[in-house]
Amino acid sequence: MLTTRITLRRFSGGEIKGPFNFIAGSPCFPRDPVGFNGVTEPSTGELLAEVASSGPETVNWAVESAVKGFEDWRTREPRERAKVLLGVSRLLERDLEKLARLEVRDSGKPIWEARVDVKSCADAFEYFGCVAAALRGGHVQLLGGNFGLVKREPFGVVGGIGAWNFPIQNCSSKVAPALAAGNSMVFKPSEFTPMTAMSLGELLKEAGLPDGVYNVVQGGAETGKQIVEHPQVSKVSFTGSVPTGSWIMSSAAKKIIPVTLELGGKSPVIIFEDAEMNNAVKAALLANFLSQGAVCSNGTRVYVHKNVYEEFVERVVDATKAMKIGDPMNEDTVVGATISKQQAEKVLGYVARAKESGAVVLCGGDRVILPHPLDQGFYLSPCVLTNVKDDSEIVKHEVFGAVMCVMSFESEDEVVNRANDSDLGLAGAVFTKDLARGHRIADKLEVGSVWINNYNLFLSELPFGGFKKSGFGRENGVEGLECYTQTKSVYVETGDVDCGPLMTS
Ligand code: NAD
Repeated sequence: MLTTRITLRRFSGGEIKGPFNFIAGSPCFPRDPVGFNGVTEPSTGELLAEVASSGPETVNWAVESAVKGFEDWRTREPRERAKVLLGVSRLLERDLEKLARLEVRDSGKPIWEARVDVKSCADAFEYFGCVAAALRGGHVQLLGGNFGLVKREPFGVVGGIGAWNFPIQNCSSKVAPALAAGNSMVFKPSEFTPMTAMSLGELLKEAGLPDGVYNVVQGGAETGKQIVEHPQVSKVSFTGSVPTGSWIMSSAAKKIIPVTLELGGKSPVIIFEDAEMNNAVKAALLANFLSQGAVCSNGTRVYVHKNVYEEFVERVVDATKAMKIGDPMNEDTVVGATISKQQAEKVLGYVARAKESGAVVLCGGDRVILPHPLDQGFYLSPCVLTNVKDDSEIVKHEVFGAVMCVMSFESEDEVVNRANDSDLGLAGAVFTKDLARGHRIADKLEVGSVWINNYNLFLSELPFGGFKKSGFGRENGVEGLECYTQTKSVYVETGDVDCGPLMTS
């Protein structure tokens, strides 16, 4: 049953032709194309592009290019690196509209969100441009006038692998700190969203990045594996699912290289009786319905104090029903298209099984067929569920779709225990006017990010990353920059060598 208003299409794009790889400073086709991946435009279900996957020869070409790029880039003054990053930030703002439209066609997310994403990429390059020159090591005073230096050095070639939900943002949040710290990169976007990583390469070149420092290869799991296993890749930064993250970690373990893993989530939002209700409702929408619900940090377990539960549910359902589903390119569309038929079916499957086990669907959870030419697009109405059990599949698993579970609670201890009863720990939130309680809960939540009285704000300044199976390592902030460096300790002797009885004079 369709519960939501609909907007119609007013844009048609057509197929996009490659090349989609970017190696040694130029767009290029793979040297050893391995089949063609037909990339679907989520809003229409039509072919957006045919992208050849990169085989081992192309991955090797990209890594060799990155090795050369690194030799040059590592010697550049940090201020020179900063200038390039700040330049890219300005170019991203210049091309914001063009990139946002490309991102919409690739990912199906609504244009208003795609603009926010591209702006956040400009912010990331600006932030890491600003801190690049401030990256410091340390000085340690030791006995007898001796001292030590702690230097921060880049790893070399970093392999970056991205997910499909925030294509250009995933890429930028790896590239900006990696390059700021003096590394080079070979990046592989998701095979579902191959477009904007290449565009970023052109902007980096225009901003003055030396050839080879940033490279893009295309493909799925096989190409990703080749990047991780390549002997000259010295660190991997991965965004994606827990099973793939686990595989990458075990593969990296064979080479003994570090990884940053940004994985899934099933985050709690806790709304106390004294919360400002309008803000709590707005945040619950932010926590569940951006990017068709495919946001790693989404607060899909919403716990509401029993005394305000009814009011919250009524308001959140009214607001959810009012969100317009439609052509993601339209200005007034709020909810766009799910990335693929397979993902849409996965989400609908979760809702169907939840219903079978007693959940009550208050709105949404249906496939929405829009008029031609959008009738083959993958549109789902955002869903609010109640009457769900803590140990049910819908409460335990990451759905990665627009499905909010609302549950009631009575006491602080009870809700914290329930919130922490998850093997994922990416994010969470607490809504209360009592800041002492807000901080108390923030301390107790076993997650990498907590918002007090807000949700899903990602700031370049604040580190972001997981606890538990949501991963480790951080993106954003100085901590994000440091994840792309390794320390080297240098001891400086100012006196004579004392080797004990080995030699006495
Ligand atoms: P996925 O794990 O299926 O794929 C992610 C990427 O890994 C893709 O580029 C894919 O081609 C590649 N890949 C797949 N198998 C590989 C292998 N064996 N070796 C190397 N690369 C391989 O994930 P997805 O479906 O694209 O993304 C959804 C998941 O990403 C969700 O779980 C979501 O929570 C998570 N995510 C996390 C964050 C975060 O910052 N924590 C952000 C966005 C998405």
